[in-house]
Amino acid sequence: MTGYPLLLDVTGRRIVVVGGGTVATRRVRALVDAGASVVVIAPWLAPEIDALDVESHRRAFTESDLDGAWLAVACTDDRDVNAAVAAAAEHRHLFCVRSDAAPGGTARTPAVLRRDGMTVAVTGGDDPRRAVALRDAISLALDVGTLPTRRVRPAAAGSVVLVGGGPGDPDLITILGRRVVASADVVVVDRLAPRALLAELPEDVEVIDCGKSAHRHNLTQQQINEVLIDRARAGKRVVRLKGGDPFIFGRGGEEWLACVAAGIPVTVVPGITSALAAPALAGIPLTHRGIAADFTVVSGHLDPGRPADQGIDWPGLAAGGGTLVLLMAMERLDLISAELIAHGRPATTPAAVVHRASLRDERVLRAPLGEIADTARREGVGAPAVVVIGDVVDVLLADHA
Ligand code: SAH
Repeated sequence: MTGYPLLLDVTGRRIVVVGGGTVATRRVRALVDAGASVVVIAPWLAPEIDALDVESHRRAFTESDLDGAWLAVACTDDRDVNAAVAAAAEHRHLFCVRSDAAPGGTARTPAVLRRDGMTVAVTGGDDPRRAVALRDAISLALDVGTLPTRRVRPAAAGSVVLVGGGPGDPDLITILGRRVVASADVVVVDRLAPRALLAELPEDVEVIDCGKSAHRHNLTQQQINEVLIDRARAGKRVVRLKGGDPFIFGRGGEEWLACVAAGIPVTVVPGITSALAAPALAGIPLTHRGIAADFTVVSGHLDPGRPADQGIDWPGLAAGGGTLVLLMAMERLDLISAELIAHGRPATTPAAVVHRASLRDERVLRAPLGEIADTARREGVGAPAVVVIGDVVDVLLADHA
């Protein structure tokens, strides 16, 4: 069928849906959203249909159900019933959509995308999955701003957006984060941000690399704050692209305060913090029924044993049974694990190091708490890594009892 595409105004018009299952539920909901006056005929109705404000009849279809209808939709799981609906519609010069065998009907429902008052409808030569795939590709291209209909501009001129980039894989940034990056005039980027996204930026975008690592500070925090403010004052759309979430050990709060003090509008786009992403990617659930009902995320970049300075209650964390997640802890992992053991965490507690989570060279090491620091040193695994301590570390392993 070549077909002739149309968009129907169904407002207040009687549309008869024959069928009461999953497909019918989807069709009824879309028709109700479009304002149609829907009548559902089926011996059994899914509860979701019952919950919608539609006329329904729990019985078999008869031809007179189509009286006064503008469109028939046949979506039962019985081919004969669907064929009967299609035949009755044909007889009355009514269009009919058939969900089981599209060629048996006289109309098709496309995969639909609505955006900014526009409707994109895709039909896939009677292959609904191809249509859905193309619809989704269009949706993503619109999100990311690569379809040249209108450049998406979610970042405002003269403002700063702190964008959480997730753990590093460019697929793990949020859709909003990606749109904001695509709209930037200036991107100020960290070492642990999803740097693969930089390759997609147009040539005229200024990229400022902070190259932050534990020891090599290309730019100090003060210089970063100054560059954000300077570019925003020049009227640029400034994106501060950071690893993980901007407000989890990311110094995003300091950048926020610096912008506010300078009178620069600043907003934040949350990201998936490595504290959550790294354990998940390593197959470690931070909570698990019957094993752990809480977890604590701790910075390990200061010496334990000086609790007064840093406010981390290592003895308390050791005594509690919850899962511990340590960031920036690789340098002091030996001191930290010794401290935890000294205060009552068994040396046999399972522990893991997740290095460069989500990136091509990701590595996961597992060892008891008493051996984890030595194991990491022996294997040459250092920062950046997330350390997880607790019985959850082994809970998804195949040989776990
Ligand atoms: N704001 C970031 C954390 C910044 S502190 C976030 O929310 O993830 C830097 C520390 O984050 C690193 O020392 C390491 O502990 C951790 N980290 C960041 N990305 C990581 C990754 N891909 N894999 C493992 N650890 C990571």
